[in-house]
Amino acid sequence: MIPATIKMPMKFECTHCNKIYMYQYPTNTISFYPTCPACEQAGLLLGTADTIDIVKHPKTFAKTLIKQISHKLGKSH
Ligand SMILES: [Zn+2]
Repeated sequence: MIPATIKMPMKFECTHCNKIYMYQYPTNTISFYPTCPACEQAGLLLGTADTIDIVKHPKTFAKTLIKQISHKLGKSH
């Protein structure tokens, strides 16, 4: 399933276009609010993404995960 080294992303809701989007913070500190990828408005923080969110929004989660993995690979050298 999900490797233990992968941190759960934070989940946001865009009230403007009623969309859920996720953002992976590199640390536990929330330094800024990521904007909605669709309309670029600041979203509403819903909290840490849960297993149920992966089931509900698999595409959103996959995108976030791919970003995180590619970021890690880019850092490793
Ligand atoms: Zn939006």
